[in-house]
Amino acid sequence: MENWDLIIIGAGPAGLTAGIYAGRSGLKTLILEEKTSGGEAAVTPWIENYPGFENISGLAIVEKMVKHCKKFGAQINELEKVISLDFKGEKKFVKTDKANYSASTLIIAAGTHYRLLNVPGEDKFQGRGVSYCALCDGAFFKGKKVIVVGGGNSAAMSALYLSNIAANVKLAHRRNQLRAEEAVIDNLKRQNVDFFWNSEVKEIKGDNMVKSVILRNNKTEEISDVEIDGVFVQVGEVPNTKFVKEADVDVDKGGYIIVDARQRTNISGVFAAGDVTNGPVKQIGTAVGQAIVAATEAFGYVKRPYYYTG
Ligand code: NAP
Repeated sequence: MENWDLIIIGAGPAGLTAGIYAGRSGLKTLILEEKTSGGEAAVTPWIENYPGFENISGLAIVEKMVKHCKKFGAQINELEKVISLDFKGEKKFVKTDKANYSASTLIIAAGTHYRLLNVPGEDKFQGRGVSYCALCDGAFFKGKKVIVVGGGNSAAMSALYLSNIAANVKLAHRRNQLRAEEAVIDNLKRQNVDFFWNSEVKEIKGDNMVKSVILRNNKTEEISDVEIDGVFVQVGEVPNTKFVKEADVDVDKGGYIIVDARQRTNISGVFAAGDVTNGPVKQIGTAVGQAIVAATEAFGYVKRPYYYTG
């Protein structure tokens, strides 16, 4: 069994930042990533609020972080899925679909996955008109009609991105206003986007491919059948904490890992950072900040320097 000082679960901005700090501080560090490095940030078309970068793609930021992380010696194992964790003893054990590891300390930075709409047709038409990633799939809808569902930053950013590709972009939100940042909303208003307020998707219809969505106006009860080629579902995120809960790490009612100001979980030597935690703001900047704290704490936990307060 391979033994590490620190295992980080997740190679998004939080995991990579923790890798940079931990590697640089001399901890023998392994990052386990189920997919490829970057997490949700890697599919964010552009980022305008990461300090020092007025406009940069999510992928470009992530590529810089990966390079930076490797420079300081952290090993990144991509396409390796964590199956279970054992935090019963002093040593922490991690079982993946490829190997078993032990570590002195862990940082969980597993991020989130997209929430489903859970309406008829969503499952059937996944990959046939239903998408959860504008950057990944937008190009398939060049010159076509698409609808984005949701009212947060992700929905607004997706609608903005698609407005440069599709012939017509609609946005359906169950309320009468968005909860995205003002700068994004201002940009969106300048684009030719049709808003469907107070509108809930009830069904996604088609034959082999998506042909329309059934919308219900929750104020007027009016039902409409809107012809469409693509549906981009952007209705929020669900934390990746199933395996964490099974190891008795405390989560809140939304499933997010509960951490204190030092990014400590309820289990001694297990820290968490980024979108997977119950931190109130989900941004690359906050993920990075939390990861710096977590990696510094992990270093203290393993090496016990004179100034470590336990
Ligand atoms: P979000 O902020 O949680 O917004 C989710 C939206 O989907 C809400 O408007 C919500 O409606 C709606 N929704 C939820 N469940 C629904 C359902 N079953 N049917 C219809 N609508 C539903 O999620 P997000 O936009 O994915 O963003 C996730 C986090 O990442 C946020 O903290 C966000 O700020 C951050 N983020 C930041 C950026 C950036 O800074 N550029 C970009 C992307 C994401 P209600 O409003 O009614 O709840």
